[in-house]
Amino acid sequence: MTTDLAAFAREKGVKYFMISYTDLFGAQRAKLVPAEAIAEMQEDGAGFAGFATWLDLTPAHPDLFAIPDASSVIQLPWKKEVAWVAADLHMDGKPLDQAPRVVLKTLVAEAAELGLRVKTGVEPEFFLISEDGSEISDAKDTAEKPCYDQQALMRRYDVIAEICDHMLALGWKAYQNDHEDANGQFEMNWEYDDALATADKHSFFKFMVKSVAEKHGLRATFMPKPFKGLTGNGCHAHISVWDLAGKVNAFADKAMPFGLSAKGKTFLGGIMKHASALAAITNPTVNSYKRINAPRTISGATWSPNTVTWTGNNRTHMVRVPGPGRFELRLPDGAVNPYLLQAIIIAAGLSGIRTDADPGPYSDIDMYAEGHTITDAPKLPMNLLDALRAYEADPDLQKALGTGFSTAYLKLKHREWNTYCSQFSQWEHNTTLDV
Ligand code: ADP
Ligand code: MG
Ligand code: MG
Ligand code: MG
Ligand code: MG
Repeated sequence: MTTDLAAFAREKGVKYFMISYTDLFGAQRAKLVPAEAIAEMQEDGAGFAGFATWLDLTPAHPDLFAIPDASSVIQLPWKKEVAWVAADLHMDGKPLDQAPRVVLKTLVAEAAELGLRVKTGVEPEFFLISEDGSEISDAKDTAEKPCYDQQALMRRYDVIAEICDHMLALGWKAYQNDHEDANGQFEMNWEYDDALATADKHSFFKFMVKSVAEKHGLRATFMPKPFKGLTGNGCHAHISVWDLAGKVNAFADKAMPFGLSAKGKTFLGGIMKHASALAAITNPTVNSYKRINAPRTISGATWSPNTVTWTGNNRTHMVRVPGPGRFELRLPDGAVNPYLLQAIIIAAGLSGIRTDADPGPYSDIDMYAEGHTITDAPKLPMNLLDALRAYEADPDLQKALGTGFSTAYLKLKHREWNTYCSQFSQWEHNTTLDV
């Protein structure tokens, strides 16, 4: 594990470090620091004006310092003279409690106090689109059921293989790549890891996919629902909890239904209990709600949930238990903040363990065809405002993520909702003109 960035630069021939932090809306912000200056920066951090990014700060606040976490450093496989390193925000000599990576680290430490280590894998789907963002980039990619389309996948081989090669070189244990369920949509999978490591990889993956796509004259988008009628970009999370040594999977119990242990069920119980509030983080944009609760897509299914239910190996529910010792949360979308995704999973799951929460009975129906027959399970929020209100109505979850964070997040997200509401759409003009 890297501890000394200056030594890393000498050894790898790195000329610049990209000291990068992720703000509340998931944007990555960076300063490019020459290797000559990195030793001091590693101690003191790089200075930023926090108000200029999506954080609840004013222009009058003192400098924000992004202190790089050397253990996260990655030499850019497509530009070897630069290395990316995730940073933790500090102000006035203390960690900034609203900073997403700080929030996640706090929750990882809380899990450790209970003797638990949360390991997760994410599946961030994306589209490869035209540079101007208006359409998918492959005019031949028009199949009604484009999932796993061999020919369309090979037409994007240069981009996909380049990214996969990078993941292999980084030791991420990449294992498969496919064309997904929407025209122009892809998914690439690598092996699960500790929650913080997965969050850093997830962030870097987005940066890498966008960068490689740009190199090929394309654009990559993780937007939850970029094209009406096509399946949206999910970001499913697979979750398991281990002992501190990472040797024993506390979620595995072959004797239980689907191989999910009693402890795993209480963790799941926490996720189920807090699901509506969770959506404020896992589905953080106005556009997110056009993916969940969506009408059937051209391919025949949205593959996203609309109700708070769980099941065995059935992809129509919010939570799926695909095999022993883990479960899959299918709620998050491509807009999710990589750090807040992991943080909210741990926060809700630990609350479930502490309160011995019951996820309720599982259901094995086809939710798309027969979902209307389930009347006692909550529906997921219909829009961002619904989700923000659910988060406001969940003081336990707010506390679990930290009051400083929750207050800041709600404030900025309400502002975003209000900005959205002040937009005039063609639809309202068309439908209201002649009232
Ligand atoms: P699917 O498309 O069937 O949902 P994928 O193969 O695309 O599944 O993604 C599965 C993800 O789950 C991968 O990141 C994988 O490493 C991860 N995973 C597998 N086992 C576990 C586990 N025990 N705990 C956490 N994540 C896991
Ligand atoms: Mg300046
Ligand atoms: Mg997948
Ligand atoms: Mg997928
Ligand atoms: Mg999945």
